[in-house]
Amino acid sequence: MARPVRTRFAPSPTGYLHLGGARTALFSWAYARRFGGTFILRIEDTDVERSTPAAVEAILEGMRWLDLEYDEGPYYQMQRMDRYRQVVDQMLVDGRAYLCYTTPAELDALRTEQRARGEKPRYDGRWRPEHGKILSNPPADVKPVVRFRNPLEGDVQWDDIIKGPISISNHELDDLIIARPDGTPTYNFCVCVDDWDMGITHVIRGDDHVNNTPRQINILRALGAELPLYGHVPMILGPDGVKLSKRHGAVSVMQYKEEGYLPEAMINYLARLGWSHGDAEIFSREELVSWFDARHISHSPAQWDPKKLAWLDNHYIKQTSNARLAELVGPRIVALGGSLGGPPLAGVLALLKDRADTLAQLAEAALLFYRPYHLDATLVAEHVTDSVRPALAQFAARAESVQWERAAIGALIKEVLAEFSLKMPQLAVPLRVTVLSTTQTPSLDSVLEVLGRQTVLARVRSVLK
Ligand code: GLU
Repeated sequence: MARPVRTRFAPSPTGYLHLGGARTALFSWAYARRFGGTFILRIEDTDVERSTPAAVEAILEGMRWLDLEYDEGPYYQMQRMDRYRQVVDQMLVDGRAYLCYTTPAELDALRTEQRARGEKPRYDGRWRPEHGKILSNPPADVKPVVRFRNPLEGDVQWDDIIKGPISISNHELDDLIIARPDGTPTYNFCVCVDDWDMGITHVIRGDDHVNNTPRQINILRALGAELPLYGHVPMILGPDGVKLSKRHGAVSVMQYKEEGYLPEAMINYLARLGWSHGDAEIFSREELVSWFDARHISHSPAQWDPKKLAWLDNHYIKQTSNARLAELVGPRIVALGGSLGGPPLAGVLALLKDRADTLAQLAEAALLFYRPYHLDATLVAEHVTDSVRPALAQFAARAESVQWERAAIGALIKEVLAEFSLKMPQLAVPLRVTVLSTTQTPSLDSVLEVLGRQTVLARVRSVLK
């Protein structure tokens, strides 16, 4: 009977949550959700030099923002040291691992000899116990490492969910060090014990780990563990076809939050980055979950496309309620020096959201309504000419009693244009200059509606004085 699906995201906390990591997390999460399984977060913090609590927090924050909820964890490898040591000890007792006293200097010498003979450097198994082999006496002054007894013959094969069948000869693999002289377990070993203990059924991770997989499979077999299925996700390339890096712009997920992308857009974008469902480009989280299948993850690298992300973000901004947008954009306007005392923000954003790719752009555009108002004398001199003043005065007079909503305001403007034989820009531009100190705004009738009758009248009257 198939085991219940259990997937994991296992980041090393050495920086921020980057786009590749977030995509791996998303695929693992979506796979678990699709099959009613469990998604586990495991922090691989055994590299004590490079791991930091700030990086752990950055990963958790990124996952929270993307709403990638985990069902178990976070587990921390540093808190599982006793368990790894216990497994190492058991493997020594069972003969699945052995003590190796080869010193670093001896290993160097061995490698030099092997290279001189044109061979690939590898440990030669000198401390590996074999039937009938006589080992040297352990030197008293050398602290041994523990090595895994890798099978000598045969191939390690797996049917990668993404890349298809992969086969590596055991001749390529030497006896991996699983514990260092001070007893600390090594990276590949901890991953195996964790995947085993945590009952992981599907390991979805970056294809920079393909080389680790045959070693991990051998160790898992030695432990008597049921093997997970593996899926190695190809890397993300920048627009220039080279591996995505800081050179291409932001690679930290949280930086996209700062730049004003919505998490929905990011999820949709990351999901399409190497995975597809027919030709669907826009889909909800629920659709993603109901469609997700690791077999449709592409086996060739995906290319980062900032324009497509912006297009998706524009789509999700348009879909988002004005009230939620106001919550998200308000603080940005204040940060830009605006004051929210003006017209209701939700109404302003309704006017602007169609044209914004990010919340940052939306805030910039909305600032027009919230920056301190002052008439620009040069613009007034240029646009509020004597020929248009009577029309402005008439507009102000009739605006007192017109119903204050877009259509009626639009009709009033048209009537004034007809009465004074003016064309739209001849009145619209002076009005814009008057009410917002700019020649360009979204549709004028809507802008006037949002600004409110009192503000509009006060501003028009002030230029007519
Ligand atoms: N800790 C590894 C990384 O951040 C992932 C290991 C794994 O998924 O097996 O690249």
